[in-house]
Amino acid sequence: MSDGCVFCRIIAGGIPATLVASNAHGVAFRDLHPQAPSHVLVIPRRHVASLAEATDAAELGALLLLAGEVARTEGLVETGYRVVANTGHDGGQTVHHLHLHVLGGRAMHWPPG
Ligand code: 5GP
Ligand code: ZN
Repeated sequence: MSDGCVFCRIIAGGIPATLVASNAHGVAFRDLHPQAPSHVLVIPRRHVASLAEATDAAELGALLLLAGEVARTEGLVETGYRVVANTGHDGGQTVHHLHLHVLGGRAMHWPPG
């Protein structure tokens, strides 16, 4: 737990969130400001600031598997979806607790803005 980290507070139950799925390493919940019909965040239970600080392959693997599970339960597999880890300033990261965005339900654009 990192003091002042909004996602640590969600993990601890101090801030409500709509849980979608979880496993031993991570939790998935709906984004507060969805950017697509389906927009779920997958985060590690431990505080890891970003992908740049991540070192645990088992943890990262479990988060990716959880993202895949979310896509299945959200019904996105047939139409497709996007998994994004905004990292650091230029990546547009605003919450400094590692998270994967799982976005789907509409066609995504490339390149991203
Ligand atoms: P970033 O910009 O760091 O890649 O993504 C952070 C995401 O967290 C944003 O999409 C934002 O809407 C979401 N977010 C920020 N605060 C909260 C919160 O308290 N609850 C939920 N569910 N999502 C949040
Ligand atoms: Zn945190």
